[in-house]
Amino acid sequence: MDKHILDLSIEEIHEALVKGEVKPSDLVKEALKRAHESKDNAFEMILDDLALKKAEELDHVVVPKNNLFFAIPYVLKDNYSTKGIKTTASSNILNDYIPLYDATIYSILKESNAIMIAKASMDELAMGGTGTTSHIGTTFNPFDKAHVRSIGGSSSGSAASVASAVVPFAIGSDTGDSVRKPASYAGLVGYKPTWGLLSRFGLFSYAPSLDTVAYFTRDVIDARHLFNLLKKHDDKDETSLNVELKEDVEKKNVKNVKLLVFKDLDINLKDETLLKTYHDLLNRLKEAGMDIVEVEFGHDLLSAIYPTYNVISFAEATSNNANLDGVKFGPRPEGNTYQEVMMNARTVGFSNLIKRRFVIGSYVLYKENQKTLFLRAKKVRRLIVQRLNELLKNADGFISLAAPNIAPKFADATDKLSDAYVINDNYLAIANFSGGPSITLPIGLKENMPFGINITAKAFDDLNLLNIAEVVESFSGMKGLSAKEVDKYVK
Ligand code: GLN
Repeated sequence: MDKHILDLSIEEIHEALVKGEVKPSDLVKEALKRAHESKDNAFEMILDDLALKKAEELDHVVVPKNNLFFAIPYVLKDNYSTKGIKTTASSNILNDYIPLYDATIYSILKESNAIMIAKASMDELAMGGTGTTSHIGTTFNPFDKAHVRSIGGSSSGSAASVASAVVPFAIGSDTGDSVRKPASYAGLVGYKPTWGLLSRFGLFSYAPSLDTVAYFTRDVIDARHLFNLLKKHDDKDETSLNVELKEDVEKKNVKNVKLLVFKDLDINLKDETLLKTYHDLLNRLKEAGMDIVEVEFGHDLLSAIYPTYNVISFAEATSNNANLDGVKFGPRPEGNTYQEVMMNARTVGFSNLIKRRFVIGSYVLYKENQKTLFLRAKKVRRLIVQRLNELLKNADGFISLAAPNIAPKFADATDKLSDAYVINDNYLAIANFSGGPSITLPIGLKENMPFGINITAKAFDDLNLLNIAEVVESFSGMKGLSAKEVDKYVK
């Protein structure tokens, strides 16, 4: 099958633009065509006119060699505010809401002349991880033409748009694993940088102490380029940090890298195909000189990640979404009092998952419950982070499978109380607790469905982690995967 330039990475598309092999409008037309042809229900809105107008304008501009993002089409998750463009976070409560301001991430991309071609569907308000709770219905996994398997979430449409080669990158957001888990199910690189380095101004809050701008690319180099572009101190975001990052170039050499494997995490992994690919990769890395050391994290702390995440994130979500009352944004329902309007708006505006989380969130925030539930969860979070930091003092990061299985079926019958679920399906939130950078990379396929590993490092170690990920990627031999070309990888 002939490769279209749009199937390539950002860096490669940029080269083609510089050489004049493709025009901005050719690229954007192809991206829009693919978006319309996509059967994955990945988009809240496809922005034909806006994107084409911009592309035609750029056709007349000399391609700047120092701007990799010039004319690169991309997709933005629908929880980033876009001035004059509907932004719903896939929730009925925000139907037809048109913001008056731009999220900083969108502004940066606009300034660099990257071209937004669509806004992605998502799990409602970024809560959940199945791609089934958007108000426009389920988002599908492009690798599974039968549409029986999930793509994960909450950044489901963003993941689907890169996996189906509509765009070379897409912006998502990650509060617990919302980019890194779908990346595993969709054969993509999913990167969550250190909390505070990328501005959250204009990203609708789910749980601000955990929320991070995060994104999907086809390879690690592109993840790094995007990080360099988006990492910017922003006065509009009070939690935005201005930190000079350190880079140890020695980490580009496999022999100078030390990664931990948590024995009590990996012990629950049972899928033989996934395990074999993962262990083969670890063995190849070891043979090449990487120091891979097994340690115990502590079973109690590992099994506490999921409940702790739930308590903290549901509580923060309840308080942060209190402004969704049917008065300030979106459709305003009937009602004689403020309470009545709010109740009517919320009854029809939220799906059951959201309502359940707000009920639990309110419960843990009740004055009489705060100490035993909310404050205790915050203490446990601290203990988990302390343990992680202690272990990472003498290592560059830890590695595991990003998820214990390939993308689950919608009619999934996993035992939700098993360690394999509680721990391995939910441990990625550890990086949101610590704020540290965390990356998922594809390493293999089972039944034509991709799966990946995750590496998590210390906060502010982004540049080293990206270097290490590039090393690991070169050993996995899986880069630039897309659902169209899956046959190429099937042995
Ligand atoms: N799946 C997790 C949840 O249900 C993560 C969501 C996220 O990262 N936004 O909340």
